This record gives sequence, C-alpha cells and structure tokens, in this order.
Amino acid sequence: MTEGQYRHVYVVIEHIDGKLIPASLEMLGEARRLFDDYNKRYNLNEKVVAVLLGHNIKDLSKTLIEHGADAVVVADHPNLKDLINVIQTKVVNQITLSKEVAEKVEPSYANEYLRPRYMFFAADSIGRHLSSTVLADLDSGLASDVNKLVISDMSITHHIKTGGKPLMYDKTLEMYRVDFSGFLWTTILCLDNRNEKISVREYSPQACNIIPGAFQPIDPDPSRKGIIIDFEPKFDDADLKIKVLSQTFVKSEVDFENYKTIVGFGKGIQAAPEKNIKLVEEFANLIGAQVGITLPISKNVFSASPATTSTYMIPARVIGTSGSKVGPMLYFAIGLSGAQQHLAGMEESGFVIAINTDEESPIKDASDIFLKGRMEDVLPLLMAEIKKEPQLVKAK
Ligand SMILES: Cc1cc2nc3c(=O)[nH]c(=O)nc-3n(C[C@H](O)[C@H](O)[C@H](O)COP(=O)(O)OP(=O)(O)OC[C@H]3O[C@@H](n4cnc5c(N)ncnc54)[C@H](O)[C@@H]3O)c2cc1C
Repeated sequence: MTEGQYRHVYVVIEHIDGKLIPASLEMLGEARRLFDDYNKRYNLNEKVVAVLLGHNIKDLSKTLIEHGADAVVVADHPNLKDLINVIQTKVVNQITLSKEVAEKVEPSYANEYLRPRYMFFAADSIGRHLSSTVLADLDSGLASDVNKLVISDMSITHHIKTGGKPLMYDKTLEMYRVDFSGFLWTTILCLDNRNEKISVREYSPQACNIIPGAFQPIDPDPSRKGIIIDFEPKFDDADLKIKVLSQTFVKSEVDFENYKTIVGFGKGIQAAPEKNIKLVEEFANLIGAQVGITLPISKNVFSASPATTSTYMIPARVIGTSGSKVGPMLYFAIGLSGAQQHLAGMEESGFVIAINTDEESPIKDASDIFLKGRMEDVLPLLMAEIKKEPQLVKAK
C-alpha cells in the first residue's frame, strides 16, 4: 500500500427542510475528536471533510465548520433537490474520488490521493441506503449501526487475510456495534487482503453508518476556520429519468431516532396515573431520554389531566408492532409486562433495565437488569443516585 493514497475522513451530511439533522453534527463531533488525536499520534495533517449535497443549502456550510469540519464540499444543484439514491450515490462518489477536491482539502497530500481513508454516514433510513450503495460502488466494506469508534494499530493473524501470519494493520478503524440484544459487542474491521497465496488487495475507505444519538456534537465555535469547496456534479441523461413529482415529509410527533435512551412505561402507572406519569417524565428529563408507552396507555384506559393525556397517552408514543420500532442504547421498561407486540418494537435496544413488581413478567427475560419493586419507590431512589453522578444527567 502507498500510505498517501488514502487520506481524511469524509462525513456525509443529511439535512431536512433546510436544517441539518442532529446525527450530522454528532458524526462531525466524533470525527473531530478522533482526528485531533489521530493527527497528533501519527504526526499527520488529515482533515475532517463534510460532504453536503442538495439545492440552496450552501448556507449550512458555516455551521458544519463551527461543528468540526475542516472542509465542506458542497454540491448545490437543482438535480439534488430531491433525495434520489442513484443520483446521490453518483455525486458522493464523484466527490470522494475527485483529485481536484483532495487538492483543495490538503494540497500536500493531493498527488497520491485515491480515496478517503474513512467514511461516516448516519444510520437512519437515508444514510443506511446511501452508505450501502456508495460503498458497493467503491467496492469496499461497510459496518452498520455503529456506536463506538477507535483508531488503532493492531496485529492481526487470520487464516485468509494474512495467511495465518501475524501482520500489523496501521490506522485500523475499530467499529463497534451492539448485537444479540446487548449481550455482545461486535467489533467490525475492514482489513486489506495480504495473503499472497490467495489474493492481495486493499479496502478503502473503511466506512460505517452511525446510530443517531451515539455521539455528542462538539460545542460550536464560530471562530473555527475551514474551507468551503464548491463541487460541480456531472449527470447523465439516464440519471435524470427518475423524477420526484411531489414529496411530503411526514414528521413524527415524537422523535425516537435521536435519543440514546428511551423510557417506556405501561399499565404499572395505574395506582396514580397522573402522579406516576409525572414521575416518569421527571426521570426522563433528568437523563435526557425520550418517553414511549405501551399500546393500552394510548387507549385512554386511565384518566389524567388534559395536558398529560395529550402529551403522553397518544398513539405516536406507542412502541411495538402497532407503533414505532426503536433501538436506543438504553431502554427503561417501567411498569410494562413485555408482551410480544411490545418486545417486537424495542428488542433491538442495546441494554434493557426493567422496573416491575412481578418477577414472572416476560419483560424479565428480555431485560439485562430487572429491578423488582414499585415504580413509585424505585424511580425516586434511582434519580437520587443519578444526581450524584453529573455525567449521567441529561446524557441525550
Ligand atoms: C394486534 C395487537 C397489536 C398490539 N400492538 C401493541 C404494540 O404495538 N405495543 C404494545 O405495547 N402493545 C401492543 N399490544 C398489546 C399487548 O398485547 C399488551 O396487551 C400490552 O403491551 C400490555 O401493556 P402493559 O405492559 O402496559 O400492561 P400489562 O400487561 O398489564 O403490564 C403491566 C405491568 O406493570 C407491572 N406493574 C404493576 N404495578 C406496578 C408498579 N407499581 N410498579 C412497577 N410495575 C408495576 C405489572 O407487574 C405488569 O407486568 C397489541 C395487541 C394486539 C392484540
């Protein structure tokens, strides 16, 4: 491998209705933290490059620089107004493979530049799709639903990749994801083939899509400097055959995607619905969590104040087969039994903590920690302990 062929981390930015989605800034924050350390460790000057596609979106560049981008490559074109995967894939790859862009990003690395070293996408419906098609075109690997990243040098011994010999792989991106309902951390590596007897080839970029909410953005700094690179995309007539005739963004009343923690509650609130929902609300606010419910809660089986009813006892908060499917890092199941239909909506959670009076409830088998007790007793104790640990407070 020629060391200089692979440079920088390219972060593919998403926006809706002219606004950046939180996951874009979170990915930039993590890229910034990783690359500050990376450049120091390896004595390099590689960049965090934001890739921004759309129409009339150039104004967003400044925010991206304030949030950690060294360079923003902007493809601002009427053909990019709508989210059409084949077109987006094509333009993202025109940018990633462009020597002219690389020359502007960091001239000293431009001569040998072939591709990005790393690429990040958001693990939402748009980013998951786009990352798979971009990486298929680039013929490299992709890890999905990642929530921890480390760059390290590691010795790998593998019967196919290295022919059974220990070989050093420098600047390897360790991409972690939670599997088997949180019982296992899987580390995914995108490694070159270095077994001369079988095949030798390099895989770059090392790419992943990242769970929204997994990382924190950095504090915006209006004095940060970065460059904005205008990119003129090229289209074939064939690309433009697909036309979006009309488009409506259906906004969910409740945002589950951008929360690391979700607190779900069920009929266990029954002893004092208003008071207990307020308790759940206080707990969720303390830890920066979104609130979900079981189906019966949305059916007005309990009476509460109009404000509580209209905020919490609504179909948009239902988790399960009749509502949303969620996959936060942490799910609190409070006073809910864990019916099949509910489990189907939260079984991809990384870690589950249940609070329930009945240890025969099915939620016990679906949880990593089962706290036996009344929510009215357990939640205040939990909140008192959390308040002693400032880093746990408001950990959205
Ligand atoms: C076609 C169909 C679709 C459905 N879709 C969904 C769906 O999408 N989502 C969904 O959630 N349900 C759905 N359901 C309903 C589902 O089958 C269950 O009836 C429902 O999930 C149960 O809700 P729950 O856990 O709140 O209540 P319960 O099953 O009554 O459980 C209440 C729990 O609270 C505990 N508890 C009681 N008091 C306390 C206390 N003080 N402190 C702590 N714990 C306490 C109890 O031990 C019990 O485990 C669907 C059903 C059907 C038929």
